[in-house]
Amino acid sequence: VLVRAQDLEKLEELGRGAYGVVEKMRHRETGTIMAVKRIHSSINDESQKRMLVELQACMKSDCCRQMVRFFGAMFREGDVWICMEVMATSLDKFYRMCIDTHRRLSEPFLAKCALSVVEGLNYMKEHMNLIHRDVKPSNILLNRQGEIKICDFGISGHLTNSVAKTVNAGCKPYMPPERIDGDAKDAYDVRADVWSLGITLVEIATGTHPYAKWKTPFEQLKQVVLEPAPKLPINMGFTDDFHDFISLCLTKNFQNRPKYGELITHRWLVNAREETTFDVASFICEILDQAEAEQRNVLSGINVNFAVNV
Ligand code: ATP
Ligand code: MG
Repeated sequence: VLVRAQDLEKLEELGRGAYGVVEKMRHRETGTIMAVKRIHSSINDESQKRMLVELQACMKSDCCRQMVRFFGAMFREGDVWICMEVMATSLDKFYRMCIDTHRRLSEPFLAKCALSVVEGLNYMKEHMNLIHRDVKPSNILLNRQGEIKICDFGISGHLTNSVAKTVNAGCKPYMPPERIDGDAKDAYDVRADVWSLGITLVEIATGTHPYAKWKTPFEQLKQVVLEPAPKLPINMGFTDDFHDFISLCLTKNFQNRPKYGELITHRWLVNAREETTFDVASFICEILDQAEAEQRNVLSGINVNFAVNV
């Protein structure tokens, strides 16, 4: 079936990012529900064509359980519409839900996240010859079936250069030192994504991004280059294997940083793959249900206040 933008009906907004909005939509004819990311882009026809060709290659992601299913992409009035599978939430929102419900992401859960991301990124590299370039909590999605998947692959290279993006948007830095200051600034290496995974894991494990906020985004980037790599705090009860995994991902010199082959055989991930007693789906459902219940309480609270004021 050929999907055209005018055949899609908007159901609700799923989230917003620096470049646009993600909406849940229904394809009228087939009833298919999808998440549509609309990116405003002022790029010319030639680069539009090139971008579509590259995005078409993302169809191969169908075979990988650790990548969000990609349905296709189209241009509409200069905007790029990227159609993908709907997931329940992203890790950035999920870890905040946990904090709000006075819980923490347990180490078995963190290990399952790391395993999925490494497997997804490894598949991208091996089968699609693609480097992600934008690994961060908001690009790791979860569903109630307990699946953890990466999304937004094959897009970030087409948007602006990521240093410029970080400086402009004032984002938290997930990029490695060599992307900010070094010879590697032009050629992307898979190990940039390995660093970003390390930063992501520290952030979701501790509840705060390891690079504190600075007055200017520039100072924040300088910190990544000049300071020692972040570590997991020693007083949070994490295993030695987890500490070791993080210190490998956050090796400042990218030439000494491991690639996926080495990470996949690391004991922390080997154990995560063999772990069967921890039920990821139940844990995700529990947190989502609690957050939704809380949301309902907040909403009914608003009604009560209204009634009192009237
Ligand atoms: P940035 O713009 O800096 O990349 P971002 O990743 O948060 O940040 P988007 O990729 O536009 O921005 O996504 C916005 C939000 O939409 C995400 O935080 C996520 O919670 C939600 N989202 C994205 N894709 C999906 C999806 N397929 N299913 C459900 N929610 C999604
Ligand atoms: Mg995203």
